[in-house]
Amino acid sequence: MRAMGVTQTNLPSRAPLWVRPLWVLTALVLLVGAAALGFRTHAEAVVRQGARAAGLMLAGKAAGLLAAMLVMLQFSLSARLKVLDRAFGLDRLLRVHRYFGASAGLLACTHPVLLFMTGVYPLGSFRWKLWPEFLGAIVLSVLFVVVVTSLWRQFLLLPFESWRRIHQLTFVVAAMATVHALSHGSDLAVSWMRLMWLAVFGGYAALFGWVKVIKPHQLLSRPFTVRAVQQLNYNVCCIELVVPPGGEFRHFPGQFAFLRVYGEDISAEEHPFTISSSPSTGGHLSFTIKASGDFTKTVPNARVGDAATIDGPYGRFSYLLRTKPAEELLLIAGGVGITPFLSMLHYLADTQPDRPVTLLWANRTRQDIFAKEDLEEMQKRMPNLGIHHVLSHERDWPGETGFVDEDKLRWLLAEQLKRTCVFLCGPPPMMVSVSAALRKLGVSRRRIHTERFAL
Ligand SMILES: Cc1cc2nc3c(=O)[nH]c(=O)nc-3n(C[C@H](O)[C@H](O)[C@H](O)COP(=O)(O)OP(=O)(O)OC[C@H]3O[C@@H](n4cnc5c(N)ncnc54)[C@H](O)[C@@H]3O)c2cc1C
Repeated sequence: MRAMGVTQTNLPSRAPLWVRPLWVLTALVLLVGAAALGFRTHAEAVVRQGARAAGLMLAGKAAGLLAAMLVMLQFSLSARLKVLDRAFGLDRLLRVHRYFGASAGLLACTHPVLLFMTGVYPLGSFRWKLWPEFLGAIVLSVLFVVVVTSLWRQFLLLPFESWRRIHQLTFVVAAMATVHALSHGSDLAVSWMRLMWLAVFGGYAALFGWVKVIKPHQLLSRPFTVRAVQQLNYNVCCIELVVPPGGEFRHFPGQFAFLRVYGEDISAEEHPFTISSSPSTGGHLSFTIKASGDFTKTVPNARVGDAATIDGPYGRFSYLLRTKPAEELLLIAGGVGITPFLSMLHYLADTQPDRPVTLLWANRTRQDIFAKEDLEEMQKRMPNLGIHHVLSHERDWPGETGFVDEDKLRWLLAEQLKRTCVFLCGPPPMMVSVSAALRKLGVSRRRIHTERFAL
């Protein structure tokens, strides 16, 4: 790959153009197909129950089938499939995943309500031959728990790992929903319908097995090794890993990966972190991590020689994926949100040192600034790199103080804003306010790219 006359190496391949339309089309066919299966009961019900009951029956069955299909389909969004990540970006896929989940929950609740309203299914009568209905009730209850804990995890103060374990129950939901649909009279009565449903469930189960069992084994069979752990300031450390012998790890600067370290004093949980080193480093890569919670506080406990697995790279937050080769770049970071920009700047220094780039880095105090020598070194190699530190809680700072707001952006970057492409990564409130300020200053939404440190 070449840009501005410089060879770029060690990058992954890009997604073929057909991936997006193909996934959208397949999803549409499956969802419309699932809802249409509910129509089969229509004619039969009109004869037996009349038009109102038939309408309710039709809507109820379509809602149930659609909910089950959504549950199965949406696993493809969260399964971290590289091909879909490269086409859409994992953060966007997970956002759609959340909408699909909430819709599935809503449709699943609507399903029994509409069916009971037909009067065909009397409430409160217990007979063993009604076991598919009882199974349906269990499916609904489990799905309810999964959806509620996903939508309101933070409000419920549920730790991430506990939420993740509850979320795995979605597989049980899909399996029981399939049994419920197949065993229930006319729903999937015709053999081709059963086959189609079983094929979709089979695909879902195979993907689930690959993601939960085969892939972790594969990653662990060729582990990375911790090469160094360095404390960069009072709460940020850098962990450097060596690629396994004979292996390679390609990424775009700015992408992230899921890291798991197997050490004595560090929990073997998997967490997402941006790769802060440049793709041009080849045989090793680094993550720069702020101690912000239970897991991240233990990262400095990793020891040289500890094994680690890296699942990635993921994401589309990279100037190489979002801008034209010569476009001017404005990088705005808040705190540890600098990590994607460390990778981008290192790679730019290696491949396009003359590209005009401005970095605006907001921190609370001067103690929060890290990688200072690194940035100074890059400034020497990149004649068109401007760096502004903005400190919010430092009175005697000779540079910019306060928050990054509309006035500061206008004053520091007035002319640049007309032509620059903006990359923004920082705490959520800062991302919201800086995006709004940029919009007010006339930067179009299309030219603002953001990365949230939350999936
Ligand atoms: C795309 C992306 C890139 C990131 N890059 C960096 C980086 O370069 N440097 C850095 O310091 N931090 C980065 N983070 C944030 C980092 O993942 C969290 O700070 C870390 O997972 C918190 O874990 P904890 O147990 O220490 O904190 P906790 O207080 O337990 O968790 C804080 C929050 O982090 C999220 N989180 C926790 N565990 C996980 C998990 N296993 N998977 C996904 N999210 C989780 C949840 O939203 C949780 O509410 C990134 C996050 C994302 C999504």
